[in-house]
Amino acid sequence: MNKMLTNDQLAQWDRESFFHPSTHLAQFARGEAPQRIVTGGEGVFIEDRDGNRLLDAFAGLYCVNVGYGRTEIAEAISKQAHELAYYHAYVGHGTEAAITLAHMVLERAPANMSKVYFGLSGSDANETNIKLVWYYNNILGRPEKKKIISRWRGYHGSGLMTGSLTGLGLFHKKFDLPLAQVIHTEAPYYFRRPDAEMTEAQFTAHCVAELEALIDREGADTIAAFIGEPVLGTGGLVPPPEGYWAAIQEVLKKHDILLIADEVVTGFGRLGSMTGSEHYGIEPDLMTIAKGLTSAYAPLSGSIVGERMWKVLERGTDENGAFGHGWTYSAHPIGAAAGVANLKLVDSLGLVDNAGVVGAYLNAQMTEALGEHSRVGDVRGEGMMCAVELVEDRQARRHYEQPGKTAGAIVAKMVEKGVIARAMPQGDILGFAPPLCLSQAEADRIVEVTADSIREVLGD
Ligand code: PLP
Repeated sequence: MNKMLTNDQLAQWDRESFFHPSTHLAQFARGEAPQRIVTGGEGVFIEDRDGNRLLDAFAGLYCVNVGYGRTEIAEAISKQAHELAYYHAYVGHGTEAAITLAHMVLERAPANMSKVYFGLSGSDANETNIKLVWYYNNILGRPEKKKIISRWRGYHGSGLMTGSLTGLGLFHKKFDLPLAQVIHTEAPYYFRRPDAEMTEAQFTAHCVAELEALIDREGADTIAAFIGEPVLGTGGLVPPPEGYWAAIQEVLKKHDILLIADEVVTGFGRLGSMTGSEHYGIEPDLMTIAKGLTSAYAPLSGSIVGERMWKVLERGTDENGAFGHGWTYSAHPIGAAAGVANLKLVDSLGLVDNAGVVGAYLNAQMTEALGEHSRVGDVRGEGMMCAVELVEDRQARRHYEQPGKTAGAIVAKMVEKGVIARAMPQGDILGFAPPLCLSQAEADRIVEVTADSIREVLGD
């Protein structure tokens, strides 16, 4: 990086030249939206070019699971780049790093998973998964069985298919999405249940009834798969209601609908278990992984394919020739080397356990500090995920009329105090998903800054 550039010069180029994802483009170009030029990081902290040191309570985009500045991963990347920066993985080619990582991933995946296909992002991995599902049903001679069920408030990426699977209005509006093959069902979001009197178990029954009704309307013979995150992430960090996954899986089995567990956030320890599937007893046919696979030290994702599907894919190539799907950078050696070093570090530092222990502490402390606040409707979480949902009226569970403003103001106040939380994109929800190496003292700091900022912005 050229540190000779003045901050003003970089800031100007930033506004003039750089198209930022998920940003209000006009406000940013006009200089009305904030910018931050990040220069370094260590542990749970990042540093910016203005000399601020911030506790990153969202681990980037819930991806820097091992924390910043891990030299073990940097060295593995460097070694791989010196030895062999790139070779492709088409027609049977591979590298030691990619083969080793596939083996390590399967050791950590649920039983009955058979192979790992490597991509670059959570979005492209889900894109791969949908193609695998369609191919599978074509080989089985069921060309009509193609629709995919996703949940409102699910997040599965922002490509054409994956943006369609995503159940958030912002990702559809003006993009001509969702595509016709995608249908959405009820979000398993107990706090936003339709009837305040419903128990959690009744709400689960309601979600199941909605799913059954959708399958009935569309016809089970037109529906190929159901995709879901074990814990809703970007839609609001919402753990499922009691009994949800067991009940949903029963319905899917009955109608011969495949299950895709999108574990981009929950894979490799975030819930205090190796996977969300292990945590909730989910038996997926396909599993999507990304973020925690390399802790974002290099871009890499994966589609883990279950044994049942794999057999059919093999049959498909016997009947039709080579599998016509691949990216230039599939199984990129540098990403794979980062993945191997990262998973070793997750083990040696005991981060899965730490996520469970410190995550539970963070959630308990947050609930204690804010559970009774007049503008806090819900404090919820699982493992190293926590959310504080703000409401205008706590008793009536009434949300703010202009969603996003209140959470935005609190997040801005928190940054002034040195802690990064994320205002989730739909509603007024403060999201926390720190690196899995968070200490109790750092958890205390997050809670203190959150509570102080809420009081300063909204009163007691
Ligand atoms: N799936 C889930 C559950 C995610 O949270 C995300 C990103 O946040 C994605 C998929 C998409 O991953 P990417 O942004 O790497 O394309």
